[in-house]
Amino acid sequence: MSRIVFWILLIGLVVFAIRAKLKGLSARQQPPLDAQPRRQPPPAEIETMTQCAHCGIHFPASEAVHADGHDYCSPGHVRLPPR
Ligand SMILES: [Zn+2]
Repeated sequence: MSRIVFWILLIGLVVFAIRAKLKGLSARQQPPLDAQPRRQPPPAEIETMTQCAHCGIHFPASEAVHADGHDYCSPGHVRLPPR
């Protein structure tokens, strides 16, 4: 009786292995559904950089302190002369 169970399990295992192999081959032949190149999402808003007229450091323009036609990194540098 145990021999019959052994052979049934062995045959089932072989059939399962063959099916898995065939499934793997057919999946490799078909191109994946999302094979088309995807468009990159738009980059996050790019911040414009500016340079401090006194110390020369680069920083986001949105944080600039504008005075006398120059950009400064901080209110303290506004009082100091441009380089
Ligand atoms: Zn500065």
